[in-house]
Amino acid sequence: MKLGIYPGSFDPLTNGHIDIIERSRKFIDNLIIGISDNNNKKNLFNLDERIKMINTIMQNRNINNVTVESFNGLLVSFVKKKKANLIIRGLRAVSDFEYEFQMTGMNFKLNSSIETIFLMASDNNQLISSNLVKEVSKLNGDVSKFVPPEVQIELKKKFK
Ligand code: ADP
Repeated sequence: MKLGIYPGSFDPLTNGHIDIIERSRKFIDNLIIGISDNNNKKNLFNLDERIKMINTIMQNRNINNVTVESFNGLLVSFVKKKKANLIIRGLRAVSDFEYEFQMTGMNFKLNSSIETIFLMASDNNQLISSNLVKEVSKLNGDVSKFVPPEVQIELKKKFK
């Protein structure tokens, strides 16, 4: 049984994230979406809100074998604690590369038995980011192409 961990902020979950989740299931049996509880980051949705939203979205789409958990501290420690086999990350064009390269290199130095697998963002998701979605939503723009309806509803509540 292959267990993968897909870590991130997911503030909020976008169609880009959903695409990575669905595609990762081609090569792993179970996936944990690991929401990093990083107090330095100012998030729009608190941890409970993000966990609830993602669970609802997974259920509504019948995406099974996916659980959502938060973690604080080092990602490699969380991966080890969960006895997972790999870390899954998404990669958009060139913008993500530098950061992902550094983070993966550091994680590898911290624990060389943990591998990270990158999935390239699909063509139509390349420009989607949680930050941009929040910006557009705040300014009353239409984000229906970027996030699932469940997230759209929650964004509207935040910015009404
Ligand atoms: P982080 O704060 O760790 O970057 P995010 O929630 O922004 O967390 O992203 C989590 C992961 O999903 C990262 O690997 C990121 O590159 C990837 N990702 C984010 N948006 C997209 C997208 N539109 N398509 C593919 N992967 C994405």
